[in-house]
Amino acid sequence: MFEGRAERAHFLSPVMLKMPASYPFESRQAAFLALLDAHRVPVAVVTRPVNIYYLTGFRGSAGAAILGPDHHELVVDPRYILQAQSEARGVEVAETKENILKAVARRLSSSRVRRAGFEDTHLTCSDFEFLRRESPGVRWIATGGMVENLRAVKDDAEIEQIRRSCRLTSEAFEETLRLVKPGVRECDLAAEIEHRMKTKGAEGPAFETIVASGPRAALPHGRASEKTLQPRELVIFDLGAILGGYASDMTRTVHLGQPSRRVRTLYRAVLDSQQQAAAAVRAGISTRTVDAKARQALQSYGLAKYFTHSTGHGVGLEIHEQPRLGRAEKTRLQRCQVVTVEPGIYLEGLGGIRIEDTIVVSGDESEALTLASKNSWILD
Ligand code: ZN
Ligand code: ZN
Repeated sequence: MFEGRAERAHFLSPVMLKMPASYPFESRQAAFLALLDAHRVPVAVVTRPVNIYYLTGFRGSAGAAILGPDHHELVVDPRYILQAQSEARGVEVAETKENILKAVARRLSSSRVRRAGFEDTHLTCSDFEFLRRESPGVRWIATGGMVENLRAVKDDAEIEQIRRSCRLTSEAFEETLRLVKPGVRECDLAAEIEHRMKTKGAEGPAFETIVASGPRAALPHGRASEKTLQPRELVIFDLGAILGGYASDMTRTVHLGQPSRRVRTLYRAVLDSQQQAAAAVRAGISTRTVDAKARQALQSYGLAKYFTHSTGHGVGLEIHEQPRLGRAEKTRLQRCQVVTVEPGIYLEGLGGIRIEDTIVVSGDESEALTLASKNSWILD
């Protein structure tokens, strides 16, 4: 899935999830403290649930972690005390019956903290105003995005989890392909895919599965509808699973029956674009260069103007995370980042074609984790 769609908050699933034995939460906290130190921030309050999970292992939907050389605390409300006590690592769990931010302010004041970081990319203006009012002695420093930057580079256990998530997603897709024929509804195929992902162990889909056929495939945001598939149509499938907390993301486009010469050329152009951009993915390359490769390949077919979104995004605990691969991006890829490469073209009336793989960045040849075939796209 490319960015811009309304995203489903998969992270807040209330289900107690099957997580791998353990992630190195304490060393993640140490890396975060080193980053805070480099920015001269003595202590930071982390409120974004996905970041609290990344740093501590607590997977509830509300809470605040106070982290600094002298602070290793996780404040939660009574709903989450038992879950926090069982899941959180490297922090002391504290329960509060009052507003969590009020409890955070009280703790900072009692330990005479003068400067503290907060996640400006997550706290609402009114929550921040409240926090500031409740902590008159504290100067607040914006530290939003810091944990997200740490999360962008994965460790071996995370990469293995995403690899499994990608494998499961490819399998669910390839098994469903048998059912893809004229007369079948898009929504039934989406339901079938999600059911297969779950029976293979996924906690759920990473986002609402996209099945968009015929002219509807020209809607880059096309969600699965009650439309039935027709002969000689293109069908876009964009799907991902959450497995052990980690997402996968893939897109394949198929054609029902023998395609026209025009459609064959369009498909070849998108495949060429996807392969050229994917081949450029390696540590050190700038993200905008990868994006440019995808656009240049399409331009050589005169199709660049139909490519209306960015080339890719990071994948991890969230379906869209750092780094972004777009025209205006300025970062460079690093080893052990996981990104998608997903060029697409959308032609009104005719439909659309998008191909997306999830890829691990390495020093030389990067590894595609999405294994489903891109060549068997003609369903006869
Ligand atoms: Zn996708
Ligand atoms: Zn995507």
